Amino acid sequence: MTTASGKQRLDWILSPEPALDLRGPGAGLVVGVLALQGDFREHRVMLEKLGARTREVRKAADLAGLDGLVIPGGESTTMHKLMAAYDIAEPVKAFAAGGGVIYGTCAGLITVARGTVEGRPPTLGLMDIVARRNAFGRQVRSFEADLTVAGLEDGPVHAVFIRAPWVESAGPCVDVLATWDGHIVAAREDAVLVTAFHPELTDDTRLHELFITMIRRRQGAAAGADEAPAGCDAGEPGRAAAAAGHR
Ligand code: GLN
Repeated sequence: MTTASGKQRLDWILSPEPALDLRGPGAGLVVGVLALQGDFREHRVMLEKLGARTREVRKAADLAGLDGLVIPGGESTTMHKLMAAYDIAEPVKAFAAGGGVIYGTCAGLITVARGTVEGRPPTLGLMDIVARRNAFGRQVRSFEADLTVAGLEDGPVHAVFIRAPWVESAGPCVDVLATWDGHIVAAREDAVLVTAFHPELTDDTRLHELFITMIRRRQGAAAGADEAPAGCDAGEPGRAAAAAGHR
């Protein structure tokens, strides 16, 4: 064994890289996790458990060839500042416009929103929602709850909320997936999924599986002309409004 390969082997043994499940639902996909701040490592572990390869994204070039991107929880003002410093906001918007599927959790939900009730930080406008930051108030900064999430089988999701936002209002093309105490805490619009809570902090992989399914559908739709992605006509009666009475 040469010194070089010996070193490689040592790197591999010491590496904190999560183990890949080659037969999982994410096998063959490469998913990025915005890694400027927040709990990006936990998302990587979750995605690799499902068989996807992952890549930490800090600069525009890291987005090349990705099938999807997770924007993790953390602190949205800090994340916004770092995104500006790393010049990554416009490339992420271009990634979404080019068909990239995005999953934002907590601060990530705020980051992808059209705006916030508070008016800051500036957001990417990838989903027609307005987020209310730290929405559950000071007394209930962090809590856990069992939530029924539309489309997920096998019972409720044990949701961990940490100084979480909620979706204050949602446009007509937004599908509400879960509410807590009357407020939207999980939603999807076209190729963007958001949760106000943190599935990556639990063992429940179902929301990441849903994200992977969204990627597969997008890719299927792009490959087969017949399977056009289900569009939403803004003139239709609002799905969000119909589902939960929230506008
Ligand atoms: N309260 C944070 C914010 O406003 C989000 C918290 C989280 O991501 N867990 O950015």
